[in-house]
Amino acid sequence: MPSPAARGPGFAFVGERLWLDFVNADPAAGGPDALEDFESLVRWLEAAAVVDPDRAAGMRRRAQQQPAGAAAALGDARRVRDALRPLAERGARDGAIRGDAVAEINRVLGRSAGTRRLELRGDGTFARAFVPGGDAFAGLMIPLVESAADALILHELPRVRRCADARCHRVFYDVSKNGGRRWCDMSTCGNRAKAARHRARGRG
Ligand SMILES: [Zn+2]
Repeated sequence: MPSPAARGPGFAFVGERLWLDFVNADPAAGGPDALEDFESLVRWLEAAAVVDPDRAAGMRRRAQQQPAGAAAALGDARRVRDALRPLAERGARDGAIRGDAVAEINRVLGRSAGTRRLELRGDGTFARAFVPGGDAFAGLMIPLVESAADALILHELPRVRRCADARCHRVFYDVSKNGGRRWCDMSTCGNRAKAARHRARGRG
């Protein structure tokens, strides 16, 4: 894993789960929007180690040649994120939201990134083949929806929390032993709360 400082231009990775980090790269959560444009998406995917630098470079080249494909990939990523935020915030309590998220996860998983084929070769032999059906943009959302699928399978939603700072929209998976984590990040929201308590004591 790259160090946090090397992980990119201001994206926060405090969610403890890939799908929650994706939800947090949202303007509502403050900080840069991973889906502001296609380049932001590539930067986020690279910072999150979903794609390696080679693939990211390929995506950038391809986006120049095929802007419509890049725009479609960006639209798709927005649609996925729009389904994942409600799952993070209310999915533990709301079965309808879980149902919508499952439909969205299956929509992404159902689009195969390639085709399996049986081929008859020129010499008369048969071979299995895998033909990538997509392009540089294919399958980008699969690791994200798989991360959300894992949260459902492993029953993690009851421990997915929103930061206790009402101004902060970040969500995280609480990995603390006692399940008492309150802040998205001790160095920002947690510290602010500590300083506020300190000031309150000073006044009292
Ligand atoms: Zn926070």
